[in-house]
Amino acid sequence: MSNTIAVVGSCMIDFITYSSRLPKIGETLIGNKYEQGFGGKGANQCVTAARLGASTVFVTSLGSDSLGKEYLEKLKTENVDVTHVKLQNNIHSGIAQIIVTETGENVIVIVPGANALLSPKDVVEAKEKIQAASVLVCQFEASLEATLEALKLYKGHGISIVNGAPAVKSVHPDILKLADIFCVNETEAELITGIDHLMLKNAQDAVDKLFSLGCNTVIITFGAQGAIHASQSQKKFVHTPAEVVKAVDTTGAGDAFIGALAYFLAYHKDLPLEESIKRANKIAAQSVLKSGTQTSLPYRKDIPATLF
Ligand code: ATP
Repeated sequence: MSNTIAVVGSCMIDFITYSSRLPKIGETLIGNKYEQGFGGKGANQCVTAARLGASTVFVTSLGSDSLGKEYLEKLKTENVDVTHVKLQNNIHSGIAQIIVTETGENVIVIVPGANALLSPKDVVEAKEKIQAASVLVCQFEASLEATLEALKLYKGHGISIVNGAPAVKSVHPDILKLADIFCVNETEAELITGIDHLMLKNAQDAVDKLFSLGCNTVIITFGAQGAIHASQSQKKFVHTPAEVVKAVDTTGAGDAFIGALAYFLAYHKDLPLEESIKRANKIAAQSVLKSGTQTSLPYRKDIPATLF
């Protein structure tokens, strides 16, 4: 088996406007800054792993518009294998319209566009590369059918991680059963389990609920408090604290964590899961030191060599 990481997921172009406050309904507000960025959970996670030095293959779908072509070139510069990045005609690339206020509040509208067209057929076309990978990573921003296909054809070939994001109330039961590791943040865990005010002290309830829904290994991230994990063989959760840092912007921390976790599972197969999570916490902590999403994802050269 190779060390390659296969990611089946989304690409989004982020259009971010910064304004003093959110506009009221019907109001036009003059903002004070605008940025465009490469995003999408699949791409962010894939790029994190690639920047850490992993060999990565990305199965995704972009529009054949100028933004899609630009994104494809960007992925090439990140050393991602783009053989299975599809450029679709007659549809725009996935976009996220984001408004951020001076107080850090934000509202986001995502239009999946080409991401929704990623089909099971596209996944089957990448079957050889997916099955050869030692880790498969999926999220909830690409089509459900494509995600299910990827998990089905990968079962038994290596470790699959499903990041249950963005938050959904009910997850297709096969996804939870097929995923070797199901990873969510506290908000996503609250929605799926129906537990309000999820904290470390009542995290076992969420873990038990996720096991009852069919999960194998569960990870819940808690921002600056780190992450917990539990598995079928060790159902009581273990807490791995985060690094203590002065956060500048936590956007994308979850994606940095997943991409880094995939890296350590693929390249340090002998490490216990707890140690891989500890190292993923360290990489994710690096990503909160800079603003932006992909722009804040660290490179291997930024990380102490002892981590590798
Ligand atoms: P995102 O902001 O991208 O949506 P998320 O909500 O999916 O992130 P979090 O639970 O906030 O994910 O963070 C994921 C991981 O990132 C944490 O487990 C932790 O390792 C790291 N992290 C997040 N925030 C901080 C912080 N303030 N200080 C240190 N580490 C952090």
